Amino acid sequence: MFSIAQRTHFLQHPHPEPFDLVVIGGGITGAGIALDAASRGLTVVLLEKHDFAWGTSSRSTKLIHGGLRYLKQLEIGLVHEVGVERAIVHRNARHVVLPERMLLPIVEGGSLGKRLSSLGLWIYDRLAKVEKSERRKMLSAQQTLSDEPLLRSDILKGGGLYYEYRTDDARLTIEVLKTAVSLGAECLNYAEVTDFVYSPDNTIKGLHFKDHLSGKSFEINAKYIVNACGPWVDNLRGIDKEGVQKKRLHLTKGVHIVVPYQRLPLHQSVYFDVLTDKRMIFAVPRLGCTYIGTTDTTYTDSIDLPIAQKSDVEYILKATNAMFPNAQLTENDVLSTWAGLRPLIHQDGKSPSELSRKDEIFESHTGLISIAGGKLTGYRKMSERVVTLVCKRLGKKAACQTKDLKLMGGQFESSADFKDFIQRQTNENPAIPAEQITALAYKYGSQMELILEQSRNLAAYFNHHHEQSLHAAEVWYTVEFEAVCSLSDYLVRRTGRLYFERPTIAQWLPFWASQLAQRLQWSKEEEQRQIKDFTADYESVMQWQKGH
Ligand code: FAD
Repeated sequence: MFSIAQRTHFLQHPHPEPFDLVVIGGGITGAGIALDAASRGLTVVLLEKHDFAWGTSSRSTKLIHGGLRYLKQLEIGLVHEVGVERAIVHRNARHVVLPERMLLPIVEGGSLGKRLSSLGLWIYDRLAKVEKSERRKMLSAQQTLSDEPLLRSDILKGGGLYYEYRTDDARLTIEVLKTAVSLGAECLNYAEVTDFVYSPDNTIKGLHFKDHLSGKSFEINAKYIVNACGPWVDNLRGIDKEGVQKKRLHLTKGVHIVVPYQRLPLHQSVYFDVLTDKRMIFAVPRLGCTYIGTTDTTYTDSIDLPIAQKSDVEYILKATNAMFPNAQLTENDVLSTWAGLRPLIHQDGKSPSELSRKDEIFESHTGLISIAGGKLTGYRKMSERVVTLVCKRLGKKAACQTKDLKLMGGQFESSADFKDFIQRQTNENPAIPAEQITALAYKYGSQMELILEQSRNLAAYFNHHHEQSLHAAEVWYTVEFEAVCSLSDYLVRRTGRLYFERPTIAQWLPFWASQLAQRLQWSKEEEQRQIKDFTADYESVMQWQKGH
């Protein structure tokens, strides 16, 4: 179980012994560190000020990729490391990290010509140790066009086909956290670290945090503390006695837009040139939609509230229409958006797109260990480096265990095994449409069996209205096993409905709110407050329409 009950139990009991490690930040980096530490036998607590994956880890391009474009910047080591990591992350979580065919159109005025694209993809295959069946295939202009007929034909010179992986960043984060919890980690959302506690020699020996659900503050002792706060890393370094020394963060904002699949019906993901500025962006088909992004601009506004601006949406629409002219996308096609902040490390004189995506660890004299930069794809390796450092400081010999550690819901031996599982679930549940079974499998993997069982148990209560009992069962599962505390936790980060199913939300909102109210024992006022809070999220993704 991973729920409010477990959280309350932890807060109500004293913990006089210091934990080996306290991790601050419940994005993919913090989650990965908690998992690595727990699997090496360390006692570990993770504290997240909002919901898990509330920061950048729910607002990325949602790809587990080697970063083909970093080859252009000659970041060979980075491409090699994250390229190899792709396969490991996929193997350990086949339900939420799925192979995705990618097309790289080669066009006049694009960033790479035919020869360089072919060479680049060839090097990429070797660096990322890509399996033979998934290696790059170069296409003529005619083959590229018959593969993706919406592409602009007059400038098309050819194409390259290769494979990456598609994920759901917030769901990957929650599966990592659930696995960490199953190995003994304590992970608390809505727990904001406010300051550090020091020994007489000025080394950190603990911290204070505020529990936002009860309003109470707590102190916790730790032998080591890791600051994995993504874009907020410097804020945490700022409250440490040492402050922000030497290197600092440079935040850049990235926006995505979502359009109905019928308005950009691609046969695969396409990684294409923005003809006006030599950047490249992705268009990714996913469950009835196609999402497109991203932008990359220096960001200096409020870290807590990045949103898409009208100019971001216009930039993406213009770039997409230039490459897929017959789509003629307009602002009216945009169903939803999201905006995230990249916690990159500042380098003098470099533009946002030129800044390295490499991660770095900073250790302060007070003992605070901070990690910044990096990518979703490389989370496991970053975590390994941090926990190896912590083990060294603790004088503990324990090898990393995560390379072959399957995540919750991902206990499948192969992609074929996962496909068979989906087929079996479809056959055994004829009352549920096959697309819904697939969508559940992509979210919860093998854990969907619990949801389906609960749905059967609830069938009579809901008068055999299958959709209602299935929705109620999904809510139940996320409350009991995924620490959902609010309506937004459920609709934004556990199910992604805000981004990918926004038009159908209004119809089900009262039902979801009432189910959560029952499970979490909300009063009528609290239920209304939750709806109001979610409505703010619902409106924020379309705020750009007001010219902001
Ligand atoms: P975050 O996810 O931001 O987590 C930090 C957490 O710390 C937050 O949840 C925050 O609430 C919490 N926190 C802050 N202050 C406190 C406090 N005082 N107490 C407790 N908690 C606190 N990478 C890829 O591999 N593939 C991609 O396709 C990809 N696309 C991207 C697209 C965009 C637009 C962006 C912005 C990034 C993309 N990335 C991608 C990079 C990747 O998303 C990030 O590197 C990764 O999500 C960062 O995770 P994190 O855990 O370090 O930070």
